[in-house]
Amino acid sequence: DRGDIHAEVVVLGAGPGGYTAAFRAADLGKQVVLIERYPALGGVCLNVGCIPSKALLHAAKTLTEAKEASLYGIRFGQPEIDVGKLRSWKESVVGKLTKGLSMLARQRKVTVIHGTGKFVNPHLIEVETSDGIKTISFDHCVIAAGSSAARIPGLPADERIIDSTGALALAEIPERMLILGGGIIGLEMATVYHALGTRISIVERMAQLIPGADTDLIKPLYKKLKTECEAIYLNTSVSRVEADKEGLQVFFEGEQAPEPQRYDRVLVAVGRRPNGKLIDAGAAGINVDERGFIPVDKQMRTSVPHIFAIGDIAGDPMLAHKASHEGKIAAEVIAGHKVTFDARTIPSVAYTDPEVAWMGLTETEAEKQGIAYEKAVFPWAASGRAITMTRDEGMTKLLFDKVSKRILGAGMVGPHAGELIAETVLALEMGADMQDIGLTIHPHPTLSETILFAAELAEGTITDLY
Ligand code: FAD
Repeated sequence: DRGDIHAEVVVLGAGPGGYTAAFRAADLGKQVVLIERYPALGGVCLNVGCIPSKALLHAAKTLTEAKEASLYGIRFGQPEIDVGKLRSWKESVVGKLTKGLSMLARQRKVTVIHGTGKFVNPHLIEVETSDGIKTISFDHCVIAAGSSAARIPGLPADERIIDSTGALALAEIPERMLILGGGIIGLEMATVYHALGTRISIVERMAQLIPGADTDLIKPLYKKLKTECEAIYLNTSVSRVEADKEGLQVFFEGEQAPEPQRYDRVLVAVGRRPNGKLIDAGAAGINVDERGFIPVDKQMRTSVPHIFAIGDIAGDPMLAHKASHEGKIAAEVIAGHKVTFDARTIPSVAYTDPEVAWMGLTETEAEKQGIAYEKAVFPWAASGRAITMTRDEGMTKLLFDKVSKRILGAGMVGPHAGELIAETVLALEMGADMQDIGLTIHPHPTLSETILFAAELAEGTITDLY
């Protein structure tokens, strides 16, 4: 059937996956309709994820750097924090970017329809808009409906129990907050609220913070957070929360469980759930797994060949740069290009202080998989630049194939690690070996040199740190 509107390509969801797919498809000559339930484009990443969190982390860094300056004889007074102004500045950052996206959509003649969409059949989507139901028929569809914060069943419904969206709203600066979950999002919020003056505790079910990352990369972060937080409970979980007038009484269980504690806020940051079960995918015959992910092949096709899925809804890792890369692939496949997802790695970054970044094989994975590797570690205590920054706790670690000497993986911890990791991603994609990196002149004095020095250590062209 023909809908109220017919589209060559309809994209469901306008996050980094969806808008990238829509824009690429339009650039390739397709007539595109983009459906988004929220007034602003940009999805989780721009509105309640990557961007507002980085804006607040920037403010946090200013506060901590002002404190650190006393180490070299510069003292500022107690900072005055105007929460209202900080909040509106953060909103203006988000607004600039989302408005930019609306402009890019207009320039490409992408039709944006605001409303909640769901499938009616394999060629029809129904959208509930503010002026009634609109139906859209399509030749191709890209599902980019993303994910939502995971909830913990059994917690009371109380507005003092918040998720990352609540934390980013920055309604106020609580006195004492428990962060439930020691993953990237929880730790980024811990960094922000600690800098703003909140007393922070973190509880993590696993034996280490950011369980997916190498232990030795997490150590410097853990050490710093230990001095900043009131408590970090590992191998521990929350068994119950009781809400009363004075606050939230939290009960713990596990290895490091303390006596019940009272907090003003509890931030639940225990992961994200794909939105695959919320769009009536079954009506189009699309397979959705039990967790809500939509399985796809290397061309981002679902079980229904003319319907694609990308981003958080199509599988882990749930990262914006993975979503946008997949968005381009889906659009190009629809336009008839012979492309597949063949990236060798997707880098991960925790924008904490220090930052932690890694890509390719981690050492833990290499050990588990029995892969023969050589490792080189360059401690930032030997980096002139890190010392000038009063931040020498970091390290750069490279893993190479024992035989071919090609780079297999890299990890870094320290300020700007998230920026530095990109060089090693390029090295991996290009199949660079330790000599390629070792012969590349890096500017001095920079943190990027630590990558060169690590490669030289691996090669044996330097044997000592200088
Ligand atoms: P989303 O961004 O989730 O977008 C999906 C869109 O679809 C949404 O706008 C939603 O409203 C819309 N939608 C859903 N269902 C429907 C429907 N039925 N009808 C109409 N519209 C619908 N990633 C990074 O790479 N770097 C970071 O620094 C980073 N920081 C983060 C910080 C936080 C606090 C959070 C929560 C996440 C962060 N992420 C980060 C993850 C990142 O936000 C996601 O990986 C990314 O947004 C996924 O993009 P997406 O296009 O798949 O989906």
